[in-house]
Order: sequence, then structure tokens, then C-alpha cells
Amino acid sequence: MYNPKSLKAEEFINHEEILDTLAYADKHKKDEKVISAIIEKAKLKKGLSHREASVLLACELEDKNQEIYALAKQIKQDFYGNRIVMFAPLYLSNYCVNGCVYCPYHHTNKTICRKKLTQDEIRAEVIALQDMGHKRLAIESGEDPVNNPLEYILESIKTIYSIKHKNGAIRRVNVNIAATTVENYKKLKDAGIGTYILFQETYHKQSYEKLHPTGPKSNYAYHTEAHDRAMQGGIDDVGLGVLFGLELYRYEFAGLLMHAEHLEAAFGVGPHTISVPRICPADDIDPSQFDNGIDEDTFAKIVACIRVAVPYTGMIVSTRESPKARQRVLELGVSQISGGSRTSVGGYAEPEPQEENSAQFDVSDHRSLDEVVCWLMKLGHLPSFCTACYREGRTGDRFMSLCKSGQIHNCCLPNALMTLQEYLQDYASGETKKVGEKLIAKELESIPNEKVKQIVTDRLQKISNGERDFRF
Ligand code: SF4
Ligand code: SF4
Repeated sequence: MYNPKSLKAEEFINHEEILDTLAYADKHKKDEKVISAIIEKAKLKKGLSHREASVLLACELEDKNQEIYALAKQIKQDFYGNRIVMFAPLYLSNYCVNGCVYCPYHHTNKTICRKKLTQDEIRAEVIALQDMGHKRLAIESGEDPVNNPLEYILESIKTIYSIKHKNGAIRRVNVNIAATTVENYKKLKDAGIGTYILFQETYHKQSYEKLHPTGPKSNYAYHTEAHDRAMQGGIDDVGLGVLFGLELYRYEFAGLLMHAEHLEAAFGVGPHTISVPRICPADDIDPSQFDNGIDEDTFAKIVACIRVAVPYTGMIVSTRESPKARQRVLELGVSQISGGSRTSVGGYAEPEPQEENSAQFDVSDHRSLDEVVCWLMKLGHLPSFCTACYREGRTGDRFMSLCKSGQIHNCCLPNALMTLQEYLQDYASGETKKVGEKLIAKELESIPNEKVKQIVTDRLQKISNGERDFRF
């Protein structure tokens, strides 16, 4: 039954295959020989199968676990260096017809304040986001064909791209909206979206059906096959994710990697990103009602094992996580984080009054973007506002082949330096600017190619003189 190439959800995410995988992982969780062989394979940096990675996740040998963490750090360094790409979510509407029991936007929640941004309100939000320094957004919206039809999403994307305020610009809009048709994905592609992100929430079909009792999202197959339709509609950068805490984490982990293998087998391109949200408090949602919450150590282990299993896939962590939790997983493989986020509908232009709570979840990291950028640099990371690949047409298999050949490095570091320089010039506080300038001078020296180094040096000077938007 299990067939990674199949376009049927229950064949590429096959329940029996996951159960066999978990049994295999249990059998070998203390098997030094098997675990060592898998770690050696992972050192080739070409990834692991869901079965192999599941053994590493289950591994109970302390010295081997330390090897897994060390390898995750090494792979992170080799593929992403110390760069961390920055983004912010923008909630357009929290009207939703679905009944997801873990999300406060479910349609039976009568306490949450329902809001939908008008195009003028979107303009105000985007200007506020630009004034913070953001260049990359992920738009979010509940599913509601009457209040938030696709035409509304398309119009909103157009509005976002059209706003040029001072030196600001949103250069990449990623989209996190409900599963839809190939035809609608084509329209999103034509609107110039970056990544189409859709979280599976849980790969366990029975649990999925319980957690999604009503609404179009209750159709497991339609939801699970959405990334395939997005690919068929021409969107070749797609993002996966589960909501850890809903089901057994080892089940979800195997499902996530099977989904990645499926995309690679069926379309020749693995997922562009994997997000690792954990369930957290929100209006009318108490995370303790869900039995499968994961602790900090398990969370770190999941991130490390995803990193070694799919080295080419970006990994995203949001402000659901505290600064401490974020710091730990940044080292182990996370390559993108949000900063200064508001998870309410509106809230960037003007803070939302408490009695009008419209947030999807409570933020754990409340710092401003400037504070997050400064914090990252002090930890030795290089914040990047780069959006170059999508704008240069480096998406899907073109992007992946550049990644796999290692050549993407020649673009990422120069672009990180130039976009950080823009940020420092236009938005940073005095302290952030001081720390950032030092960091840029140091990182510039690590560009191996002299010609590239010279070009970047010249462009950094031009940015200081007021020019913008250079990219490799
Ligand atoms: S998770 Fe998405 S689909 Fe479900 S209730 Fe929340 S906004 Fe609606
Ligand atoms: S060059 Fe491409 S891969 Fe590298 S940071 Fe920029 S957008 Fe990402």
C-alpha cells in the first residue's frame, strides 16, 4: 500500500508504514551498530529516510545523541552558515468556517473578536512592518469563502507588493491559507507568491478527523494532497509543518519526512521549508487539554533530527517559542525566524485593545524586531533580510540543485550582508547598528572569492550612500 510516488494521501502517508517505522525505531533505539551506521550515512549530508531518521529520534544512547546534536550543528553550519532569515506573519482575517479544536478561530468560538482587514488597513499594517525593517511576510487567513474568498487574498497580495514607503518594500509574500484547487493555486502563483505554506497539523488520520470535526478542512485527503495540487498549479516552493502536541510526536515526525519524500518522489522537489510549531495557549484554547505536548529536550531532538534528515530544507520557528527555546533550536538547524510578530488581525499599525483580542495564539517572544536582530548578532548569528532567490527565479528544482551543489552559498552570504546593511541604515537602533557594522566587517572577510568580496564591498558602500536592493 505504501507508495511515496502515489498522489493518494493514504498511500504516501501510509498508517501501516508509520507503525512499522515506529516499531523498527523502538527495536533499534539502543542498537549501537545500527545507530552508528545511520549517523555515518547522515554525515554524507544527503539526508536520511523517514525510517532511519526515526531511529535517531528514538535513540536512547547518550553518546550517540550527542553525536546527532553535533552533526545537526555541523550540517546547519555547512548549509546555512550563521545566517538566519527574518520574516513576519500578517494576519488578514480570522473569519473561519472550520471547527479545528486547537485553534481559537474555529467557527463556534463566540468570545474571540472577528476581524478582517480592509485594503486600507492592510496598507497601514504593511507600512508599519516596513518601518520595522521587514522585507518578507507570511500572510495568514482563516478559511471562509464568503468573508475571505481567494479574490480577497489576491487583492491583498497586490496591495502588499504595491506599497513603497520610504526605503521600505515587501519583497516576498509567502502564503498560509487553506487547501484549495489547482486553479486557485495557479492564481496565487500568478500573483507572485513565494512559498505556499500549509500545516498538516497531524498526519494521524483518525486523530485528524477528531480534531477537525466540521468544515472543509475535515477532509483529510483533500488537505494532505494540497501541496501536490499547489505543485500542479506551478508553485514549486511549498512549506510543510505539523502542530506538535496534537498526536504522538514520533508519529508526526515520520509523517513529515514521508511527506517530504513524497514531494521529492512525485515532483522531483522536496519541501522548501518545514515549520515546527508547538501547541500554545490562545483564546479558549488550553494546551494542557492535549495529551501529547513535548518538552524542551524533545523539541530540540526533533529539530536536530529534521536537520540531519533533510539538510536542504529550511526550518522555521515562530514567536510561539520563548527566546530561550529559540536560542537552543537556532543552533541545531532552524534557518528562519519571525521577529516583532503580532498574531492578531491588525496590531502592527496600532496595538490591539485587550478587549478586542483577535490573536491566533499567545506570543512567547515579545521583543521588537530590532531587539531580536541585536540578540541574534550577539549570539553570533547573521540576520538576513534576503529574498533574492524567488526574485531571481531560483525556485523549485533550480533552487534545490543550487543548494545541493553548494553554490547557493555564493549568494546567501553576500545577500545577507547587503540586506543587513540596509536594515542597519534604515531601521536599527544605535546599539544594533554598532554591533551590526562590526559583524558585517568580520563576515565580509570570510567571503572566499576576492572578486565577489570586492563587489560586495562596493555595494555596501553604495547602500551607505542611499542606494538599495542589490542582490546576487
Ligand atoms: S487552524 Fe486554520 S482552518 Fe482551523 S480554525 Fe484555525 S484558522 Fe480556521
Ligand atoms: S540567496 Fe536564496 S537561499 Fe540564500 S538567503 Fe537569499 S533567498 Fe535564501
